[in-house]
Amino acid sequence: RQAIEAAWPGLELIVLPDDPAARLPAEVLERIDFAYFSGDVYPEYSRSFFAATQGAPNLRWLHTFNAGVDNPVFRRFLDRGVVLSTSSGSTAQPIAQSVIGGMLMLARPFLRWADAQRRRAWEPVPASEAPADLAGQRMTVVGLGAIGSEVARLARAFGLEVTGVRRSPRREGDPVERVVPPGELPALARETDWLVLACPLTEETRGLVSRDVLAALPRGACLLNVARGEVVDEAALIEALATGHLGGAYLDVFTTEPLPPDSPLWGLPNVIISPHNSAVAAGNERRATEGYFLPNLARMRAGQPLVNEVR
Ligand code: NDP
Repeated sequence: RQAIEAAWPGLELIVLPDDPAARLPAEVLERIDFAYFSGDVYPEYSRSFFAATQGAPNLRWLHTFNAGVDNPVFRRFLDRGVVLSTSSGSTAQPIAQSVIGGMLMLARPFLRWADAQRRRAWEPVPASEAPADLAGQRMTVVGLGAIGSEVARLARAFGLEVTGVRRSPRREGDPVERVVPPGELPALARETDWLVLACPLTEETRGLVSRDVLAALPRGACLLNVARGEVVDEAALIEALATGHLGGAYLDVFTTEPLPPDSPLWGLPNVIISPHNSAVAAGNERRATEGYFLPNLARMRAGQPLVNEVR
């Protein structure tokens, strides 16, 4: 609020109270011509935000803190002609760091050491069971946008060979040697040790990592998913992990969230779960407001094209 008021002192700012039952009176709703959603899509509070702004007859523009806009609530705004823009990029660094952290936990013996530590046991990993060197392993990043590019950049510092998968061709400055279209994923899977998912959930990406793609990965390969649960065939993933075909997984997102207590994923030894929380970082709100919302507000007022506009 302070950042917005400092940037635009004359702006009438209506802050929706943090109360799921809150409703704005009709005369206030009529005065809203743009809205900034600065929180999470899922809790109660967000439902009241969307209920209120959905009913604002003069709303022209909605900017959201989120990067992914697959939640149907956003479609309703687009369908009534509201311009929608996102803060994609504002959480790319913490998410990429979580991906790399998950990779290191699986690549180095952290799970084994932590288990021994809890038992107060001094159990060095013997040389005969030494993990494979990370340098020279092959990573495939599906969705080479803000998050995927940061993952690729960091992974290359560990000596991994990184290939990007996305619809548009390689661009100057892409932090990968090679970019291939999504149709090549089944073939590429055969040469992938680390499969990272950082694409949006769309009709094209739903189920993209199918049973066949999982089966094509070499034995011992690992999956790192920070995109959306529905990008993967979750039943096939559970099977591939349980049979040992996959060496492990770092999963932030799931087909059903919260992940149900009876999901087999909770109990699999080589699975690291973060509860759709890979992005958590104190600087996110500031990055979204100062880096995306305020610059877009200036562009909107100047009649210029917005950054991260959803089409
Ligand atoms: P960006 O828009 O910056 O990047 C998306 C990338 O995906 C682009 O490179 C795009 O390239 C590519 N892409 C789109 N369609 C396909 C496809 N069919 N196959 C392969 N690649 C595709 O988004 P972000 O990096 O900011 O975020 C990506 C996704 O990550 C979000 O949509 C969201 O679902 C998820 N996310 C998860 C969070 C979490 O907390 N776990 C938080 C933030 C985001 P092209 O268009 O050329 O194909």
